[in-house]
Amino acid sequence: MRMVDLIATKRDGGKLSSEEIQWFVTGVTEATVPDYQAAALLMAIYIRGMSRREIVDLTLSMARSGDQLDLHDTVPFAIDKHSSGGVGDKTTLVVQPLVAACGVPVGKMSGRGLGSSGGTLDKMESIRGWSCHLELPAFKQQLRDIGLVLAGQTAHLAPADGKLYALRDVTGTVASMPLIAASIMSKKLAAGADAIVLDVKVGSGAFMPTVTAARELAEIMVNIGHDAGRKTVALLSDMNQPLGQAIGNALEVKEAMTTLQGDGPADFWAHCLEVAGQMLLLAQKAATMEQAKALITKARDSGRAWDKFRQMVMAQGGDVSQVDNPDHLPQASHVETVNAPRDGYAAAMDTNAIGWSAVHLGAGRLVKTDILDHAVGLILPLKVGDKVKDGQIIATIHANDPDKLAQARQDILKAITWSDEPVARLPHFYGTVT
Ligand code: URA
Repeated sequence: MRMVDLIATKRDGGKLSSEEIQWFVTGVTEATVPDYQAAALLMAIYIRGMSRREIVDLTLSMARSGDQLDLHDTVPFAIDKHSSGGVGDKTTLVVQPLVAACGVPVGKMSGRGLGSSGGTLDKMESIRGWSCHLELPAFKQQLRDIGLVLAGQTAHLAPADGKLYALRDVTGTVASMPLIAASIMSKKLAAGADAIVLDVKVGSGAFMPTVTAARELAEIMVNIGHDAGRKTVALLSDMNQPLGQAIGNALEVKEAMTTLQGDGPADFWAHCLEVAGQMLLLAQKAATMEQAKALITKARDSGRAWDKFRQMVMAQGGDVSQVDNPDHLPQASHVETVNAPRDGYAAAMDTNAIGWSAVHLGAGRLVKTDILDHAVGLILPLKVGDKVKDGQIIATIHANDPDKLAQARQDILKAITWSDEPVARLPHFYGTVT
């Protein structure tokens, strides 16, 4: 087979055969397909889409591109969660210790930032020394010891996704339903979860802008999960405004820690409760959502979830003094407020633009080799529906470069639309796909 033929087939709206998809994934894994041809095919898929059969083929080929874990020698039931990506989405940092503290072990492989959406590993690496590089025996040992592991995708697990993910991040090919579905589900299947909670984001800061598109993505992922014998549930959750207030790596770690200690933003806590609740339901730790939420709230209020988080940081080499004293996390040299340009109600946010403003400050990557600045980002307490007075503080920018700070200020002001009339608040969720 020749890569140029696959690219041309997809460019012209044709379908790739199962053999062609398998050949492409093997070529990416073994680095016999160069980045430029892989990127060209990704762009053709982005533009032309894929049939359900092609998506399933791509997912399964990617899942089989490396090891496929079986965690049953370590835990009786392996549960996992995954977000389709959003701005300010630090849910894993809170949900994982909460669920572990309820007695359900969670060994999770997480990812890095993608486009305007931050990545869990990038966030955790704000903590000095913390490492996501765990080989399988260490992964299993930590899961046994503390019931909580947050690892990066190893070179052995869905390596094709690792390579394609990094390419998509810098080639404008992230927001593609087939590529997102295959990326997420290949990792989840390979990581050996018995049950998976998918957090599919909808809105201006999500890769799926409408509920219809998000539902389609959710349905295909849930079907792939079920076909592979995994209990799978997807939540459709709002991303028409950032989740919580913090956007940017160390700032998000700080907000996650505050939330674990009972003091986080209300919308973020509501979100964590729902995701963690679904995980407890799938793990049969609770019979109803009400019971699940009560258990989770107790795990937070007792300090057990916080303790789990600390244990995970220590086990993975992180400097726990930064966790105990968040002011020791990376700090930006310039911190300035953004003020409301008028009286009125916040009517809408271009959340993607807000995410990109954090990327341009240095919180994310523009090219594969970019080194992140963990200190920079935004605190944006404003929510759609809030009433503000002219000059009121609506955000704080944390920057290490005055020019970037000035640009972020313009970007944020441009991303918010105002109204003279009261505006309805946004829902947290649009539904569940089971
Ligand atoms: N998360 C992933 O793992 N992959 C995507 O493509 C998007 C979000």
